Amino acid sequence: MTDLLYQTDSYLRKFTAKITDVDEANRAVLLNQTAFYPGGGGQPADMGTLAVAGKTYTMPRARKGPEGIWHSLGGDEPLPQMGAEVEGQIDWERRYQLMRTHTAMHILCGVVFRDYKALVTGGDMEPLKGRMDFEFETLSKELVGVIEAAVNKEVDKALAVRVDILPRQKAFEIPDLIRTKINLLPPEIQVVRIVELVGLDLQADGGTHVHNTSEVGRMRVVDYKSKGKINKRIYVELE
Ligand SMILES: [Zn+2]
Repeated sequence: MTDLLYQTDSYLRKFTAKITDVDEANRAVLLNQTAFYPGGGGQPADMGTLAVAGKTYTMPRARKGPEGIWHSLGGDEPLPQMGAEVEGQIDWERRYQLMRTHTAMHILCGVVFRDYKALVTGGDMEPLKGRMDFEFETLSKELVGVIEAAVNKEVDKALAVRVDILPRQKAFEIPDLIRTKINLLPPEIQVVRIVELVGLDLQADGGTHVHNTSEVGRMRVVDYKSKGKINKRIYVELE
């Protein structure tokens, strides 16, 4: 399996690793460790470059497989050998925007749950843009402005963002986690990664986040839509 360096250090932009398998058909390599996020939980996969023996390949997409994290290699140069040492470099501008956006989505979730007890049912993001779906029957145009102000207040509060990796049983003892549907975790998952916006939001989450909500910057709610009587979608953008 690939050691997931981004799980404990989301600010790691550059790393070295060993190639543990090569997939010629899909032009991809498996690494023993990686800082590239393979996508999931609404956060898109990282891009960047992989340098091997003086050659630099573009890495347009990391992807999770049963064996670990596969890294696609662009171009048509011959693939590197198994066992070779590589240096990975993340497209940091894009990734840092995604970290800010992902943390912004958790602020939004936290605020909407704290103030209206509305549950999130899904979400998606790209750099500096995202949408979230809520079971939120009473959402209105006026409320959207109130929510936007409440989110930016949490940015101004500069809340610490803490990441913990807990044994499954310990995680199940945290009442706040129940609402993020932790119960749906498959039984073979024995540890749960927890992302906490201290004082606001606590979720089981595999994504990469900033260290402090002040890094998010201004968030604007740009639109909202009814997806039925109960289900509402909120669209946000970061400056
Ligand atoms: Zn998340």
